[in-house]
Amino acid sequence: MEKKISALFMVLDGLGDYIHPKYKKTPLMMAKKTNLTLMEKQAETGLMQPTLPGLPVGSDTGHLALFGYDPFQFYAGRGPYEALGAGFELSEEDIALRVNFATEKDGKIVDRRVGRNDYKLKELAESLSYETEDVKYIVLHTTEHRGVLIIRPKKKILLGTNVTDYDHEPLQEVKALSTKVEDKKTAELINEFIKNSVKKMRNHPINKERESKGLLPANFILLRGAGKLPKYSKIEEVHSVKMVCIAGGALYKGVARAVGMFVPDIEGATGDKNTNLMAKVNAAIKFKYDYDIVFMHIKATDNFGHDGDFEGKKNFIEKVDKIMKPLMENFDVILITADHSTPVTVKRHTGDPVPIMLWAKPELGITRPDNGGFHELSKGTIRITALDVLRLIRNKINMVKKFGE
Ligand code: ZN
Ligand code: ZN
Repeated sequence: MEKKISALFMVLDGLGDYIHPKYKKTPLMMAKKTNLTLMEKQAETGLMQPTLPGLPVGSDTGHLALFGYDPFQFYAGRGPYEALGAGFELSEEDIALRVNFATEKDGKIVDRRVGRNDYKLKELAESLSYETEDVKYIVLHTTEHRGVLIIRPKKKILLGTNVTDYDHEPLQEVKALSTKVEDKKTAELINEFIKNSVKKMRNHPINKERESKGLLPANFILLRGAGKLPKYSKIEEVHSVKMVCIAGGALYKGVARAVGMFVPDIEGATGDKNTNLMAKVNAAIKFKYDYDIVFMHIKATDNFGHDGDFEGKKNFIEKVDKIMKPLMENFDVILITADHSTPVTVKRHTGDPVPIMLWAKPELGITRPDNGGFHELSKGTIRITALDVLRLIRNKINMVKKFGE
């Protein structure tokens, strides 16, 4: 039997950036790199367009596309993925919404992320769960300021998902986006939940505790991405590869679970800036022979982008550079790219192409190093969209069936 080629598929969330007016480089170009520099000399490089040119994508749609599922066909709203990633078993009737714990003052949202501090948000989330005659409201904390709300019907009532988000100012009510009864019902249920939860949060002992510690109170809740989980064919059937997902963030674990990847919990992988990168590396190595492709997600590059922190993003890329050494020693093929750009100059996702690098151990003789560079101005040979990424890896590990004779 041929020796199996081990493969790692690595996504640095929001890695792509713009040329900074002060530094004249992107954070990736500016970062001091040893291992990534060695890799780019041995790799095929280039640019990858997440879905359509110029279209900013979310991390959910971005990852669906990277896993080879067209998000225009398969996207279900962020809520269901966040719920799956939190380890929650969603039933077909459940509506899931993404939650942001936020801080309100004098009728205005003053911080949409409670300072990204998750102190006792788990307990707070649990205390917001309750049930009525019709439905159960289940609130779970996931990572940082994020959580998920699941509305589970207790009897046969049909719930729709076509409703407005609840993250606008001035704060209004959630409205149905159609005249359908089921959408109106969902809007009504969400409004009831918001009223009750805000009342509970206002004088919540956990918030008194947070404030006494100098933290922002989580006295408000933003709700977005209402959705039901669609039925997905497993990635093993669609793309003939068995995959495992090494990630900390609930959303990524959720998208991976939805498409049938194995998603273990990794201790220390938090999905934020303090994540234990070595814990992820060790987990990736442990699974390399049990799965055709190990998928690894690293989130913090996106966080630094949203925070407009050039230095932070650059320094974090330098940390990633350090873990590439054990990964290069342990994997035969490594693809690194991003799900979208989150430039520090604009602090949001943009629709620009992102760097991509496909490395293989030189002694395997399965690569054509192009010296194009692994960065936003790459002159490399790869020019593809997200939907083709997985096939590039499968091709290197000899797992694409020949088309024709
Ligand atoms: Zn992302
Ligand atoms: Zn982001």
